[in-house]
Amino acid sequence: MLCLAESVIELINYQIENADTITQYRKPLVGFASAQDPLFTQMKEIIGPHHLHPTELLPDAQTVIAFFLPFDKTLITANRKIPQIAREWAVAYVETNKLIATISAELKRKLTAQGINVVTQPATHNFNEQDLTARWSNKSVAYVAGLGTFGINHMLITPSGCAGRFGSTVISAKIPPTPRPTLENCLYIRDSKCQFCVNNCPTGALTLQGLDKQRCYAHLLEVDKKFEDLGLCDVCGKCAVGPCASI
Ligand code: SF4
Ligand code: SF4
Repeated sequence: MLCLAESVIELINYQIENADTITQYRKPLVGFASAQDPLFTQMKEIIGPHHLHPTELLPDAQTVIAFFLPFDKTLITANRKIPQIAREWAVAYVETNKLIATISAELKRKLTAQGINVVTQPATHNFNEQDLTARWSNKSVAYVAGLGTFGINHMLITPSGCAGRFGSTVISAKIPPTPRPTLENCLYIRDSKCQFCVNNCPTGALTLQGLDKQRCYAHLLEVDKKFEDLGLCDVCGKCAVGPCASI
């Protein structure tokens, strides 16, 4: 019989293998964090007091499940080789957000049937559109859950790269935490040998000094207008198609 961690991983793998999407994925990554990890409290200082602690989502929280759905390499190539945002990339953004909702709902259904309390979170669009602060950052909790290290592109770079999307779920059952990596995955942070993401940013929002979120978001809304037929599509990803896209 599978342990809880194994059954969560199996469920996520099954959903990806049977996804009804045009978008193709590589093998998903799954990590687990203790809800009592001190980093969740520190996030209120690092990100801001608006960022929720797992126990503010679920009072009896024990574990945060984080998962990463890495895009197929052909998608990375498609968004790298043209100056505009590739339509495939825009489709992947919309489809993957929906797929994360499906996976989260399946996790909730399966775990609730075992008497476990579950709170899911959306893949995105849970932020304040004025100051662009989010009450729950999937990529930050994925960091706590050992899925990677941050790059200067402000993305979490996993062992499968950063081109893909994150989801997370808080549950009331204990799963042993995933150890965090000790090696930096960003080549600039490692030895200053890469600045692809900064050089490839079409707006100048991303620099070595930081990310101008408002300038970036204004560009994402422009992209959204170009793909009106796809639904809400505020995406760009030009900083996610460099050497750390699919390690
Ligand atoms: S593109 Fe290069 S510098 Fe930018 S995050 Fe990736 S590895 Fe780091
Ligand atoms: S998403 Fe696009 S505009 Fe925003 S920082 Fe990345 S490359 Fe620049």
